Amino acid sequence: MPYSNWQTRTIRGGICTKCMACGRSGCCYGARRPSWCDRTTWSTAVRWGRIPAWCSRRRSNEILTLSTETVLHVRVPLRWRVDPGSRVVDTVDCVVIGAGVVGLAVARRMAQRRLETIVLEAAAEIGSGTSSRNSEVIHAGIYYPAGSLKARLCRLGRDLLYDFCSHRGVEYRRCGKLIVATSEHQRVDLERIAAAARANDVADVTWLTRAEARALEPELECRFALHSPSTGIVDSHGLMIALLADYQNAGGVLALRSAVSGGFRGPGGIRLLVGNDTELQARIVINCAGLQAQAVAGVLDGQASGSIPPLYLAKGNYYVLLRGKCPFSRLIYPTPEAAGLGTHLTLDLSGRGRFGPDVEWIEHIDYAVDPRRAEHFYAAIRTYWPALPDHALEPGYAGIRPKLQAAGRPPADFLVQGSEIHGVPGLVNLFGIESPGLTAALALAEHVASLLRVPA
Ligand SMILES: Cc1cc2nc3c(=O)[nH]c(=O)nc-3n(C[C@H](O)[C@H](O)[C@H](O)COP(=O)(O)OP(=O)(O)OC[C@H]3O[C@@H](n4cnc5c(N)ncnc54)[C@H](O)[C@@H]3O)c2cc1C
Repeated sequence: MPYSNWQTRTIRGGICTKCMACGRSGCCYGARRPSWCDRTTWSTAVRWGRIPAWCSRRRSNEILTLSTETVLHVRVPLRWRVDPGSRVVDTVDCVVIGAGVVGLAVARRMAQRRLETIVLEAAAEIGSGTSSRNSEVIHAGIYYPAGSLKARLCRLGRDLLYDFCSHRGVEYRRCGKLIVATSEHQRVDLERIAAAARANDVADVTWLTRAEARALEPELECRFALHSPSTGIVDSHGLMIALLADYQNAGGVLALRSAVSGGFRGPGGIRLLVGNDTELQARIVINCAGLQAQAVAGVLDGQASGSIPPLYLAKGNYYVLLRGKCPFSRLIYPTPEAAGLGTHLTLDLSGRGRFGPDVEWIEHIDYAVDPRRAEHFYAAIRTYWPALPDHALEPGYAGIRPKLQAAGRPPADFLVQGSEIHGVPGLVNLFGIESPGLTAALALAEHVASLLRVPA
């Protein structure tokens, strides 16, 4: 593109989060020069950003470090500029709201399909919501009603995720899991789960007797168990960094501290108000705001009344093993309870054991873990690990499930809404993206792309 076709634009805010190479904040060694940014501008950014000396020495031509306060003037193609009426509004093909694992996966797909894409994230870093407050389990796709979005996207997402992690060097382990029946009457529950697995085309689940289960996990107490070898664990932050790197390599832009506060349908697309004073126009807007998805949809005018579902919050608390090695090498799940999968044992990639999440229905977002819940944890865990020592647990962290059903109601499916539901062309809302949203993220991205008929 000839230089005369470019204008000078000001970008406020940074695209830098945690470095892929060194893990430090404030260094963007993992970022690549976006396709719209020429080399001179790129190296200017390098000079202006706060780049640690040790880092710029390593690969200065590939580093962009912009603190969120940095204002950078770059030259961008003139087609970014539209002038509806008297005001100049930046226009892009696609805006993704929210940089959790789902928003990043969706944005990566859009940018890879050659749409000019911007991710708007309210927080100062990526993945600070539910995406960093979960069990990091790659679910096999066993439990969900056959034909539901959860069943289909978990099964597909699982395969896409294993493939992505192995190609992109994201740490994961296919450690397998045991779902255990600790009493005779839970046998029926296991049989129902085994049938659900077959219906969902998860063919590798096998039935184990007590002796067979204990041969795998000697400290386990149970009557029967199901073994799911295709369940695994993943480094969720590493996954998000890799998705972000792909996205930026495809030319995508990430704007942190950029909360969407309003929007309406204009003649040239959807106009979004970002913060208090910035407007952005896009042909496609994808609302991946997690726990805030309903609130974001609520400030986007023009949607059919009644199309935004109510939100219910179900907190999941975790306790972690205080000391000593965890005696299990597989994940251990009791039979599921209402609104959750039971107080299960998961492992992180260093082998540390954590228990949870339990289910606590709440009114407001609050991530504090109440130490008084410990008693309930000891009792639940000792049903399958009787040798759990006293004082072995300490409060860990909590995540919050964005539920679409109230306590006591049957589980709801993921809700991915296009214009046929809410009436705004180009807008997609993702509601109720609770578990298995991490596993399903790459499949959700494919689903959104096909809903919008974005050419491959
Ligand atoms: C306790 C718990 C355990 C779980 N365990 C698992 C598991 O083991 N395996 C699995 O597959 N899934 C699991 N999940 C589900 C999984 O974590 C989520 O489905 C997934 O992380 C959702 O990602 P997201 O991108 O939709 O939401 P989020 O990660 O919450 O991202 C939403 C982003 O939107 C941003 N945002 C909000 N409002 C605005 C705004 N106005 N403007 C701009 N940005 C905004 C937020 O800051 C946030 O960064 C678990 C969930 C919970 C709660």
